[in-house]
Amino acid sequence: MATEKKEFKTEVQQLLDLVIHSLYSNKDIFLRELISNSSDAIDRLRFKALSDKDLIKDDPEFRIKLFVDNEAKTLRIEDNGIGMTRDELETNIGTIARSGTRQFMEELKKGKTADNPELIGQFGVGFYSAFMVADKVTLKTRPAGSDESWTWESSGDGSYELSDGGRDKRGTEITLHLNEENRDYIVEFRLRQIVKKYSDFVEYPVVMDITRDDTPLDDEGKPKEGAEKKVTITEETLNSMKAIWMRPKSEVKKEEYSEFYKHVSHDYTDPLKTIHYSAEGKIEFKALLYLPAKAPFDMFQQEGTKHGIHLYVKRIFIMDNCEALLPRYLRFVKGVVESNDLPLNVSREILQEDAIIKQIEKSVTTKILSELKTMMKKSEEDYLSFYREFGKVLKEGIEVDQANKDKIKELLLFESSKTEPGKYVSLKEYTERMVLDQKEIYYITGTSRAAVENSPHLEVFKKKEIEVLFMIEPVDEFILAGFGEYDGKKLKSIAQGDIDLGSEEEKKLADEQKKEVSGKYKKLIKKVQDSLKEDVKEVRLSDRLTDSASCLVTDEGDMNPQMERIFAAMNQPVPETKRILELNPSHPVIETMNELFTANKKDPKIADYSELLYDQALLTEGIAVKNPARFAQLISDLMVQAK
Ligand code: ADP
Repeated sequence: MATEKKEFKTEVQQLLDLVIHSLYSNKDIFLRELISNSSDAIDRLRFKALSDKDLIKDDPEFRIKLFVDNEAKTLRIEDNGIGMTRDELETNIGTIARSGTRQFMEELKKGKTADNPELIGQFGVGFYSAFMVADKVTLKTRPAGSDESWTWESSGDGSYELSDGGRDKRGTEITLHLNEENRDYIVEFRLRQIVKKYSDFVEYPVVMDITRDDTPLDDEGKPKEGAEKKVTITEETLNSMKAIWMRPKSEVKKEEYSEFYKHVSHDYTDPLKTIHYSAEGKIEFKALLYLPAKAPFDMFQQEGTKHGIHLYVKRIFIMDNCEALLPRYLRFVKGVVESNDLPLNVSREILQEDAIIKQIEKSVTTKILSELKTMMKKSEEDYLSFYREFGKVLKEGIEVDQANKDKIKELLLFESSKTEPGKYVSLKEYTERMVLDQKEIYYITGTSRAAVENSPHLEVFKKKEIEVLFMIEPVDEFILAGFGEYDGKKLKSIAQGDIDLGSEEEKKLADEQKKEVSGKYKKLIKKVQDSLKEDVKEVRLSDRLTDSASCLVTDEGDMNPQMERIFAAMNQPVPETKRILELNPSHPVIETMNELFTANKKDPKIADYSELLYDQALLTEGIAVKNPARFAQLISDLMVQAK
């Protein structure tokens, strides 16, 4: 039998080191992980066998069996599931196939896991947790319907050995050579306890040979003299196998929900919320759904969310991560849906088009949104913690789910010019505290709170105490395009187009004043515009500035710089858009320029100062100036003159 020695991929070794040395205070969970893997492997075979009965005819009773060897100090977990081919063994056990892993490992190395051990669970390190209790692990596997088998062995020290042969029945067996401190995992009582606690709901029997010694004993507890030794070995099932979602809600304990969550989601933390219900009526199904407490590291990667919703039909597992059951913007939800109305032989492709699945999706979506609404009203803390983790994903719904758009709007939260950093306001609260005569919902977009908070665009709003929402997530730009109205009020960017503040009377007064100053500065404005014609679309006097001398605004219908950046990051063509430079008529700089201009229409300082006003406007938005050396030169010149 040829044996090959292979190195683990670097990230696997790093992960192993973490698992072995620092991660879990609760070592018992290694058994839960291995039993979950076995149960998944049987699920997959059972589904495959629906269309190919021969696969299981040699051994039709699915089960997971634990064996202990008191002499060798080993614990073996064996299943008659689907097994693994050599390729599968190498990709599943020798590498971590998820994208983003390398980057994530970097984060781990920076020490973030010390406070956040649950992060690691997002990987599905399940199998590797065996190394917490064993100093050598031997895995033997034989794929169903195949006559090849493979033996894999490793001491978790950088390499593993792979050889052919080793198992004559289908399925996988994993032998743990228990290390010194963890020898008690061969004690029957402990195993029984752990299975009951963590894997009670596993659908297949988890069995074990239980040895009973009924030899008659004397008063001192020793075998009676001359009595025959009477030892019986019986196979016992350690778990109740009750599908938790089929049980009445009132009978399921919180811990049971929690353990089941960990089983389906391969997450290590308790869920934030459990939603368990049965839908009755035209379409009947049972759903046990969970909102996780933490977002996975790869939530924004296309291939992320491996363990989403499991679909069962008539008590049979059909598939995990059934995307058709949930819209993408709810992809963080985990759990199980079981329906008796679907045929057993459904495939992913068929599901996407299936009318019943569409109905279930609709109902599940409505349920989740309404639970979120209740949570928002009744348990604010929980909702905030949910929103911080998943708000960004939920927002995508505004763009894609027309039918539920209004409900999603109600669930959104934003920071604003009237909230402290990290605190939020909902649209409802915003509209309730709108000032008299305010007709629109104002917002500003930008890359961070710091960037928007000091924006000159906000000046007049601060002065008039009008609240402005801060849209500072990249996704905000996308949802704004199709957002529409909220409660009959339009959303309006304070950095785009004209703004229309104040009562009719105030506006009339402002218009009169504006007319006066526009007359005064008309020629200067024209001059500034000529000297900046390469860079800006128009120069005009501003209504929104109180302290700053200038700012840039995007014309109605044009693309703003944040959006341009997003497009550029996605390698999309970005149309060239010039913006409008607004000048503050009550700023002394404008008056000074006007004086210079009146004295000498050709004064070169006008062009220099125009350039500086433009550069300042860029800088306040965090955008680099076109020619920094020249900018520095102009500023130095001014400083010299100011002596
Ligand atoms: P996860 O279960 O989260 O994917 P694991 O590291 O526990 O992560 O397992 C990696 C993969 O190895 C599994 O997804 C599965 O494909 C395969 N695997 C693990 N255990 C078994 C088993 N008992 N039978 C068949 N395949 C298995």
